[in-house]
Amino acid sequence: MRLPSIIKGDITCVEADAIVNAANEWMLGGGGVDGAIHHAAGPELYVACKAVSETTPGIRCPVGEARITPGFDLPAKFVIHTVGPRWKGGLNNEEEMLARCYRNSLALAANNNIVSIAFPLISTGAFAFPILPACRIAIRECSTFLKDDSLPSEITLVAYSGADLAALRQVIQELK
Ligand code: ADP
Repeated sequence: MRLPSIIKGDITCVEADAIVNAANEWMLGGGGVDGAIHHAAGPELYVACKAVSETTPGIRCPVGEARITPGFDLPAKFVIHTVGPRWKGGLNNEEEMLARCYRNSLALAANNNIVSIAFPLISTGAFAFPILPACRIAIRECSTFLKDDSLPSEITLVAYSGADLAALRQVIQELK
């Protein structure tokens, strides 16, 4: 089984073809990694996000889906914006919705011939998804994608804290 790479760091500094943003449905910036990505990419990212068409009033990217913009001042050429589920106890399809974020982001990357992509741990900050199940879903979905010979062929999961890195390492140990 091919596993994604795991690193600890700030995703805005990662030199990949694309980085993934844990956005919200209106795609106009927010806190956490979203704020950091908008800050590092510069104001053109906000303009590009605003230009993404709305599926329903105010909603540019429904939960589980993904949208792509340029990366502007980031080292990454593209930003793939995905919207994770808010954790509401686990009985509201949160696990499937989180899996869809990874799957749809990877499919969108493939459609754009993206070779390397880096993800933050979607939904594990403000959206409160428990870290271990979130890491299991992230690693499972990336590994499934890496089974085929298709793009993207280099997938990295970026932990922002030491505790998150430890959780990713624990899940990789479980798989060995
Ligand atoms: P969500 O709303 O999807 O939970 P958050 O941005 O609150 O999104 O958190 C998602 C994850 O991103 C959390 O694990 C958080 O620690 C992490 N994070 C925050 N800033 C950065 C950053 N600059 N680089 C990588 N990960 C980050």
